[in-house]
Amino acid sequence: MADIFYDPDADLAKLKNKKVAIIGYGSQGHAHALNLRDSGVQVVVGLREGSSSVAKAKEEGLEVRSIEEATAEGDIVMILAPDQVQRSLYAEQIEPNLKPDAAIFFAHGFNIRYDYIQPSAGHDICLVAPKGPGHKVRATYESGYGTPAIIAVEQDASGEAWELTKAYAKGLGATRAGVIKTTFTEETETDLFGEQAVLCGGVSHLIQAGFETLTEAGYQPEIAYFEVCHELKLIVDLINEGGITKQRWSCSDTAEYGDYVSGPRVVTDQTKSAMRDILSDIQDGTFAKRFIADQDAGAPEFTQLREKGEAHPIEQVGRELRKMFSWNQAADDYQEGHAQ
Ligand code: NAD
Ligand code: MG
Ligand code: MG
Ligand code: MG
Ligand code: MG
Repeated sequence: MADIFYDPDADLAKLKNKKVAIIGYGSQGHAHALNLRDSGVQVVVGLREGSSSVAKAKEEGLEVRSIEEATAEGDIVMILAPDQVQRSLYAEQIEPNLKPDAAIFFAHGFNIRYDYIQPSAGHDICLVAPKGPGHKVRATYESGYGTPAIIAVEQDASGEAWELTKAYAKGLGATRAGVIKTTFTEETETDLFGEQAVLCGGVSHLIQAGFETLTEAGYQPEIAYFEVCHELKLIVDLINEGGITKQRWSCSDTAEYGDYVSGPRVVTDQTKSAMRDILSDIQDGTFAKRFIADQDAGAPEFTQLREKGEAHPIEQVGRELRKMFSWNQAADDYQEGHAQ
């Protein structure tokens, strides 16, 4: 059984005389800064010169400094820039300004697991990885709940690293939901696998293949969109609430029988064998090398794949149909809200 921690297992007083520097104010950054601040923790946000997030963070009443200054003030430095920029950000702006005993925190173990960042021996190296997107980490906190997280310590220089990590998770609201002990290696490998094989890669391509199959057979794209994409959220909500069993209970017996006999024709032994290959590329560093090499070259492959994904016909149909939802007027504005 995993080690799971809840609110009573963590002590916010461990953060009492400490300042937390949050580097970056994107999806995770804004949520960490605001949740910790609302939990009574001293927070400073470190941002690049000219970052459009400076105004947003200041509007929330947060203290904002340059990355160098925020790092220099931080007893805890949480690095929430994109994974692919963390290596140079750490070498150039963070490492030279760290307090000798500052604890270095991450929300994903990528740069430690693949040795892109190797902090010196005096620093605690800690992980608080929320199991949800940043905007949900903030929204659940505000409504009195929390997003579960997994935590790890790679280097315990202070002897207090676990207590510090649990306290941070509590400030974030994660111990309200439950926090599971892991390692940087387990978090990194399972997070990459989950997003590639199932959550992002698996689901997106499953939806696209379903949409293509229906429209190529002559069915209306709007109908196909509802059947293979819109309803997915409703199904996933049921799984999230009560497992696959609750989803099967709520669907018709027709749907449930079709699930049993047709699901295994889509997700076959070959699919599982591909999943094992994906896992192996993650474990031996092949995926990390490919991602970072492309990023270092200016992300040509990434950019081309993103453009191809955005040009898929289901995106156009979906945009038009979502305009019909009266409650959904702002839902397609996310790109404007995503400024760096
Ligand atoms: P993001 O892309 O939303 O935001 C990154 C922020 O970093 C930007 O908003 C900006 O403030 C700053 N930034 C961007 N480029 C920079 C640069 N070159 N130099 C300095 N600062 C820069 O990132 P994110 O998705 O919040 O990811 C941050 C970390 O959290 C990553 O390690 C990621 O794996 C992890 N994580 C993300 C999620 C998620 O849902 N997004 C979930 C769990 C863990
Ligand atoms: Mg994840
Ligand atoms: Mg991830
Ligand atoms: Mg249906
Ligand atoms: Mg049923």
